[in-house]
Amino acid sequence: MSTENFSTLRYELAAPGVARVVMDRPSHRNAQNVQMSYELSEAFDRAVQDDEVKVIVLAASDPHFSAGHDLSGDGAVRLGETQPAIGTWGGFKKPGVEGRYAREQEIFLQNTRRWRNLSKPTIAAVQGKCIAGGLMLAWICDLIVASDDAVFSDPTVAMGVCGVEWFAHPWELGPRKAKEFLFTADSWTAEEAHRLGMVNRVVPRAELQDHVLALAQQIARKPAFSLQITKQAVNSAVDQMGQQQAIDQAFVLHQLGHANNMLKFGSIIDPSGMPSAIKKSVY
Ligand code: ZN
Repeated sequence: MSTENFSTLRYELAAPGVARVVMDRPSHRNAQNVQMSYELSEAFDRAVQDDEVKVIVLAASDPHFSAGHDLSGDGAVRLGETQPAIGTWGGFKKPGVEGRYAREQEIFLQNTRRWRNLSKPTIAAVQGKCIAGGLMLAWICDLIVASDDAVFSDPTVAMGVCGVEWFAHPWELGPRKAKEFLFTADSWTAEEAHRLGMVNRVVPRAELQDHVLALAQQIARKPAFSLQITKQAVNSAVDQMGQQQAIDQAFVLHQLGHANNMLKFGSIIDPSGMPSAIKKSVY
């Protein structure tokens, strides 16, 4: 996969010191298939390796930031065949729990953790709907700026699992609100997410991209190394509070949910909980 030939996203040098990665599958509401996962990794790596880039923006083509994970297909890559794994797992086609566990380790857990630990500041620009797996993409960014029409939800409990694979809900929302968010699957507004501390800023939709770019440029004027070590220091503090272990534990419970669904329904999700409007595109 050439870094020059992304098909699910655009890579832009948006301003001096700022790279912008724009998810660009609007016909799929920017649902993340496996191809997009690897293109995101490649785009982030490119930004990290470019010494002129100091801040990375993750944005999305209108109208929605992300409808979550795309279950309708992997795109133009075959995991473990045409696409080498970037994590430590293999055996993606094995039957039983083995293959599913390895696949989700690779594309949902290890990949996501890698993005969370990129050595440069990242800012998510979120508009429209940000659902389930879309939350994972926003949450791994250091800052989140949302448009005033953004809404956030994780409807996966109705699908028989305990939330999306990157289980940062208690850290992003606090434990009590995380339970409400998951139990009800309600959509929460940008303003509510801001009140809970999940979102840094809320701005009018028309101003979102300009606002994020100005914020990125403000940050990019700081010394690159102090930005890097500051990010590392904060992430390390969160790690010391147990986030990594909590996410790893929830990931195993998530796999237990998938296994239970397979035994009961022959499907990794409970089909009765799959909202028809977002069938195939979200979990
Ligand atoms: Zn899963």
